[in-house]
Amino acid sequence: MIECVQGDIAHQPDMEAVVNAANAQLRPGGGVAGALHRAAGPELDRACRPLAPICPGEAVITAAFGLPNRHVIHCLGPVYGVDEPADELLADCYLHALALAEREGLRSVAFPALSAGAFGYPLEEAARVALETVSATLPRCPHLERVRFVLFDAETAALFQRLLDEQP
Ligand code: ADP
Repeated sequence: MIECVQGDIAHQPDMEAVVNAANAQLRPGGGVAGALHRAAGPELDRACRPLAPICPGEAVITAAFGLPNRHVIHCLGPVYGVDEPADELLADCYLHALALAEREGLRSVAFPALSAGAFGYPLEEAARVALETVSATLPRCPHLERVRFVLFDAETAALFQRLLDEQP
């Protein structure tokens, strides 16, 4: 049900939704947001504007336009050391994203490592929050069959896989 792969979140054609590590204004920016907006095209930016700004821990959903998915779920993770309590706000991102996916009846969602890039969240801590929150929430999501963590590099993918294997 949960898998961890190395890859690019903008190239997950078999997933119904991909999650964006958004900024508050839901603008393109760098990292995950840059990759998703580049692949989706300018319509994604237009669709995001009326939904912005969002607060840390929130999630909103749009169509995916040029991406090979049905939806993009945009989450604003906490900026580490600024938005507190960071672990609760990061967990809220995953909870709210899964709730939106479930509301839409989606069967598959792919997440990046929210907050673990420009927002400075220590990787292992961010991975633990992500995996614990998704593992605890999936049993209450009857539509969702697959959650994929898409990690940019091999070490991050290996870390997520190790922590997933340690889950009870
Ligand atoms: P945040 O601002 O929430 O920290 P970032 O986009 O800066 O989000 O980074 C989140 C994580 O996603 C980082 O670990 C980064 O290396 C990784 N990442 C960046 N681009 C991609 C991509 N195209 N696909 C998957 N992961 C990515």
